[in-house]
Amino acid sequence: MTKEHSPDRLDVKAFAQAGGHLSGHDTLLKYKRLAEEAQGLHPDLRVDWQADGEVRATHGIGGQIWLRLKAQATFPMICQRCLLPVDVPLAVDREFRFVADEATAEALDESSDEDLLALSREFNLRELIEDELLMELPVVPRHDECPTDVKMASSDEDFEEASADKPNPFAALAGLRKPGA
Ligand SMILES: [Zn+2]
Repeated sequence: MTKEHSPDRLDVKAFAQAGGHLSGHDTLLKYKRLAEEAQGLHPDLRVDWQADGEVRATHGIGGQIWLRLKAQATFPMICQRCLLPVDVPLAVDREFRFVADEATAEALDESSDEDLLALSREFNLRELIEDELLMELPVVPRHDECPTDVKMASSDEDFEEASADKPNPFAALAGLRKPGA
């Protein structure tokens, strides 16, 4: 039996049991909350993602529902050092374990270093992708190396030439002093 898996209404358990794979190459405009954070939106901006479902035995218990999510995007922001646009690479690679419901996820969350989510037959995968990418946004976006201003070098040279034309005031003073005076 084959089944279409929809990223917007995913039956997580069925997806994992089928060893399902989904991927997308979405326009960033589809992710509204993320798009609001962009500085200089462009229709060519894309979010690439892959999701893999798997049933695993973990903690000695079989039949655990896992989802591995990978997402990448190049995100336009403003560099806080030079105030010019900077393309920030965002990358997510996380695994989530799905448990029976929200209450179980919350109860286990304290004691677990896993990322836990509640099982759903209509899980919105794109919402998860968006949440994860939003968390990757840097608080202070910056270039690794800001574009440098080439003009600085030539104005330094002008300054040195200008000062070479003027006599050094201390040298002039020294000239007034006569030995033995
Ligand atoms: Zn910069």
